[in-house]
Amino acid sequence: MTLGKIAHSLGIVRKKTLDAALAAQDELRAELAEAELKAAGQDLEKRSSLEAAFHTDALSGYMRFHQFNSVRDFAAFSNAARNGPRRKLEREISGAVVNNPNREVKLLGYCDVCEKVQPLIVNIQSNKCQDVTFREQAACWECRLSTRQRFLLAYTLRQCEEHGARIYAQEQVTDMYKALVKKRPAAVGSEYLGPGIEPGSLVDGIRHEDCMALSFQSESYDIVVSSDVLEHVASLEEALAELFRILAPGGKLIFTVPFRHSAEKTIRRAGFENGALVHYLEPVYHGNPVSGEGSLVFWDIGADIFDYLHSAGFSKVQIVCADSLVHGYYGAPLLFCADK
Ligand SMILES: [Zn+2]
Repeated sequence: MTLGKIAHSLGIVRKKTLDAALAAQDELRAELAEAELKAAGQDLEKRSSLEAAFHTDALSGYMRFHQFNSVRDFAAFSNAARNGPRRKLEREISGAVVNNPNREVKLLGYCDVCEKVQPLIVNIQSNKCQDVTFREQAACWECRLSTRQRFLLAYTLRQCEEHGARIYAQEQVTDMYKALVKKRPAAVGSEYLGPGIEPGSLVDGIRHEDCMALSFQSESYDIVVSSDVLEHVASLEEALAELFRILAPGGKLIFTVPFRHSAEKTIRRAGFENGALVHYLEPVYHGNPVSGEGSLVFWDIGADIFDYLHSAGFSKVQIVCADSLVHGYYGAPLLFCADK
């Protein structure tokens, strides 16, 4: 059985994408042998380990999605992978970044969003940091999407093909949304613009929505995609209930959040008491594309996120991981997929 057939029979990637990607892989190998790894300061031995990893990808069906029905299963996989060749390679890349005067290296990968082989930038911005956090790295130099975002978008688009086209994204001013509407022009996006604004209204062309009080009718979307938003909502329960409400039966909530599988419980870092913001732990802020102040982290999401999702009504919850160097997915990015 050919590689393409194996991959196709497993439903791994669409045939067209696979062919294009396999063609791209030859190009990748040739380019890899040249400038990139030299520029990264990697020696021949390291180059061959990278090529070997590509080869493994090809043999394993080119693109592997690992799906887990419980955090326990995911943790077993994750722990086993920790000392595997892929993580070893990532540590080597991390070392190359640290040792590079610009604290940056470029890798190559097939960007699903741009649909071609692209340089992927890996860097460390802070001098204090001695290790690459791949989740937000390997950003394509053209579409600028990181490992996590490329994977989230690729997976979401695939689900759109299978489960319907009405899609709502919990972002609108981002590179990821721009990439999404190029492929799905009818996709609706929004941002949270602050308190006191009517959900569904436009402010300078940006739609405002409050995740805990969405303006959409019930059962009006097939897919909701949410990229590192849910850790910022004041009530996780209310937000999940709203997302469940707006999904049609069979619809899917596909999201990423910072997730520590080893933490049993989700921890509430902040909340509102009698309308006043209260911090239970030291405030932590993440970057926010519509606010220079950043977004306060209300929740450290733990293993019981499955319970939160089931309580909101979702019937099936999975963690999905991608492992493909050919696609430039470094750091084993993961997402959650919850079915209504
Ligand atoms: Zn790209």
